[in-house]
Amino acid sequence: MNRYDSNRILDLVKPMGYIFTKNSSEADCYILNTCHIREKATDKVYHDIGRLKKEFRNKKKPMLLVTGCVAQAENQEMFNREKYIDGVVGPQSYHQIPDIIKEIEYGKKKINSTEFEVIEKFDSLNLVKSSNSKISSFLTIQEGCDKFCHFCVVPYTRGPEYSRSFDEIISEAKQLIANGAKEITLLGQNVNAYHYESKTRTFRLADLIIQLNNLKELKRIRYTTSHPKDVTEDLIEAHKTCEKLMPILHLPVQSGSSKILKAMNRKHSIEEYFEIIVNLKKARPNIKFSSDFIVGYPGETENDFQHTLDLIRKIEFINSYSFVYSPRPGTPAPKISNVDLVIAKKRLVKLQEVLEKIQIKSKKEFLHKLTEVLFENKIKNHNKYFGRDKFLNSIIVESSKDLTGKMFNIKIDDFNHNNLFGKIVDSKKEISLLK
Ligand code: SF4
Repeated sequence: MNRYDSNRILDLVKPMGYIFTKNSSEADCYILNTCHIREKATDKVYHDIGRLKKEFRNKKKPMLLVTGCVAQAENQEMFNREKYIDGVVGPQSYHQIPDIIKEIEYGKKKINSTEFEVIEKFDSLNLVKSSNSKISSFLTIQEGCDKFCHFCVVPYTRGPEYSRSFDEIISEAKQLIANGAKEITLLGQNVNAYHYESKTRTFRLADLIIQLNNLKELKRIRYTTSHPKDVTEDLIEAHKTCEKLMPILHLPVQSGSSKILKAMNRKHSIEEYFEIIVNLKKARPNIKFSSDFIVGYPGETENDFQHTLDLIRKIEFINSYSFVYSPRPGTPAPKISNVDLVIAKKRLVKLQEVLEKIQIKSKKEFLHKLTEVLFENKIKNHNKYFGRDKFLNSIIVESSKDLTGKMFNIKIDDFNHNNLFGKIVDSKKEISLLK
């Protein structure tokens, strides 16, 4: 979502004459768009500012705005800790950035804009055309969260759940497609809680997917991140009927123990989670799953941890994010876990070993087989192209022809930890529409 927000911030400041530069030392204005999910992210912000100060030691100081969830959470404290910052802008206030920049240009100091003005934000953004021209584009449909998992900062930094209007989303999707998008990933902190009430009816995520599935030029649809509690029957049905909806779902579970899920306030049991997986598999037999795991959550016993490993082996998640529990300020979860850090780290290593074995097994299954790849870009300084298959595997293929935005069947002949490698089977047979 931060990548989507960063693109939209760029759309907002372009009319003021600002352009994006990769050469950091020539920038007049820095916008550090931050994430607050992990503690390290906050440290990284101050580290980046330190680097910036060194870089500009003998030059005119650039304007510096810190945006995103660290800005929201740290707020005024950021100005106390780092005098170099000119403005702090929360994730629901970034539509105000052009005005904030103007005010700073006119000499105003230390602007703090951290209100939850999400409706106003999208009203403003709807008036600004998206210039994003990526083959695979993000589209925010929902923001915020009402779930209040005990370990998570999102409800405090992004605010309560808010769903954008159905028509606005479809209109932005059409804009992205006109800009060249072939794949759209619908985004939300709780994307499947999407719930928009027009004067005549209620629209849910499944309705959006069905509508996008009918857009001829669009080839692939994905959505992330989902909460198990909001996997509704119509959404499961969409996995059956919408052929452009890709057969991989990131469905965070965090732990394989119902006791720990309860302690985390996840609002579902492990049996319920498993039932959702079974129903999705019935709807789309080739569907695969990825997930998030927290290891060493307060109260996690060896037995609870074994349940997590059992779940991983049973579902065979092909790609996951896993971390040792780290308390976030302002959340209800205990500040110190009663699980010894050494034990928690050992559990994490074990869990990642199990996940990796499954990942390698899954990659091996692709060897010498065909997989449908949508190519996104050329790899710098090489005659190689990067694309993804339906399951989000990264695929690298050598080609003297430009493959960007094209879809081919690729025969996989090798793989490493991160990528699958292969060759185009028939370069004349570009896949124009999904079967
Ligand atoms: S559902 Fe997701 S975003 Fe919401 S509180 Fe839980 S972990 Fe955070």
